[in-house]
Amino acid sequence: QSQELSQAHIDYHVALQALQEHGTRMVCTGKMHTDRICRFDYLCYCSEAEDFVFFHSNSSVMLPSLGSRRFQPALLDFSSVEDHNTQYFNFLELPAAALKFMPKPVFVPDVTLILNRFNPDNLMHVFHDDLLPVFYTMKQYLDLDDEARLVFMEGWAEGPHFDLYRLLSNKQPLLKEQLRNFGKLMCFTKSYIGLSKMTTWYQYGFVQPQGPKANILVSGNEIRHFARALMEKMNISRLEDPEKDGGSIEDGKGKDKKDEYIVVFSRSTTRLILNEAELILALAQEFQMKVVTVSMEEQSFPSIVEVISGASMLVSMHGAQLIASLFLPRGAAVVELFPFAVNPEQYTPYKTLASLPGMDLHYISWQNSKEDNTIIHPDRPWEQGGIAHLEKEEQEKILASKNVPRHLCCRNPEWLFRIYQDTLVDIPSFLEVLKVGMKTKPSLKKARPSTTVHPGRVREPQCQTSVLTPNEAKLTVSWQIPWNLKYLKVREVKYEVWIQEQGENTYMPYILPHQNYTFSENIKPFTTYLVWVRCIFNKNLLGPFADVLICRT
Ligand code: UDP
Repeated sequence: QSQELSQAHIDYHVALQALQEHGTRMVCTGKMHTDRICRFDYLCYCSEAEDFVFFHSNSSVMLPSLGSRRFQPALLDFSSVEDHNTQYFNFLELPAAALKFMPKPVFVPDVTLILNRFNPDNLMHVFHDDLLPVFYTMKQYLDLDDEARLVFMEGWAEGPHFDLYRLLSNKQPLLKEQLRNFGKLMCFTKSYIGLSKMTTWYQYGFVQPQGPKANILVSGNEIRHFARALMEKMNISRLEDPEKDGGSIEDGKGKDKKDEYIVVFSRSTTRLILNEAELILALAQEFQMKVVTVSMEEQSFPSIVEVISGASMLVSMHGAQLIASLFLPRGAAVVELFPFAVNPEQYTPYKTLASLPGMDLHYISWQNSKEDNTIIHPDRPWEQGGIAHLEKEEQEKILASKNVPRHLCCRNPEWLFRIYQDTLVDIPSFLEVLKVGMKTKPSLKKARPSTTVHPGRVREPQCQTSVLTPNEAKLTVSWQIPWNLKYLKVREVKYEVWIQEQGENTYMPYILPHQNYTFSENIKPFTTYLVWVRCIFNKNLLGPFADVLICRT
């Protein structure tokens, strides 16, 4: 991976002339700064001023043309974290004529994706905020291929997980700090700014307490596709045959039961499990399986992924390392441990991940409910949960509380104090939670319906009416099956019919097994009814409604 920008295959004078004549060109998608991704020709970066520069000429293009709305609050989000005011992107404007008086630009020939990493020190953030969004942004724009250049503008050093970012493209990613090495004025021949937020599932609690995003748009399929692509880049051959179910503890399909194993992901510096050996022994006895431990401190990340990708169960204290559960095979269980006073329902990035449709992981949480089994660290620095810096009264209040109340990110001292406790895991209560949890384990078949193909519209919907007496009428509705049905094996096909008397604001819904039905109850003579029909596969896969029928009795 060469860090040099090869100037060989661009003609410098042609590029300079194009910049001078045409200036910068920008076209974007997205109506709002939060869903915008922009593509630029000849966007430049002035490393002294630390500003991106848009050069105006007679033929420059800037779409959307926002005028000064570009600053309300920004052109777009520079990271995948929504509307965070430290993550806004904008550029400075200059006339192209100013180039004559500026340092000679250095051109970047690669197609470049420019972004802020949100928190590259934390493995969960690396995957959720950066790797997945970058991966799928690159899938969205074909010229962001294996030869694309990534540029990280958040200003941090490489960080502990830089090798993971290197997997996204064949070219060495550049850091903000390195840009000055290339000259005072750098111009990106073709670049994209902004990240797809389609894959993110969690909001960290900047404006409301943390929790799953309101409108999750990603399924397990996309997560697993990403995981497989990353594993390929890491040269990990999957232990699992992808066609088979994963290491499901109950059905033992996919491989011999004797090959199944449990992984305990251990943390070695903070938020410890104090009786890890005892926990491992208990797991081995309970499930009659091998138990292996992995830790970030002792192993390379690829070697951890290799182990996890074949595991039947992953057990770990709450923490960023649990993001590795996205490499578990289908059917595996994720068991997340929470320290005393930390409510598992309020901190659910890993539960949400495991529960994505099609992720097919079984999630179980355990919380330490015994105060005697927790080890507190009041004298540590505040960012590791110390509380010695607080007023005495405040300290006592925190020590007396048995439950961290809901709070915003990121510096709530009570939250930090409790989340950085070490825990002696009470084995009987842990095994009880596991036993109960594994019992309710949905079988893979249930969790994964044979089809996630939705019905098409029903065809040729019709109604026929007749008046029987001055008080009685009949309404017969019929339709043809959606045409995709004849190519599918569907366990159960039903139809839903809504009947609304014109002018009323309520309707009657009916679920019907056949392709026609005659309604006579509640049907009045000389009345107009609006009728909608749709198809339903397997109880919950809804199709679209056909055009409304207008039926007059
Ligand atoms: N970390 C680790 N071992 C430890 C403590 C932390 O590998 O004993 C890693 C952790 O996985 C994360 C980073 O260090 O990537 C920051 O950990 P922190 O406890 O601050 O964050 P959290 O795990 O709560 O998200």
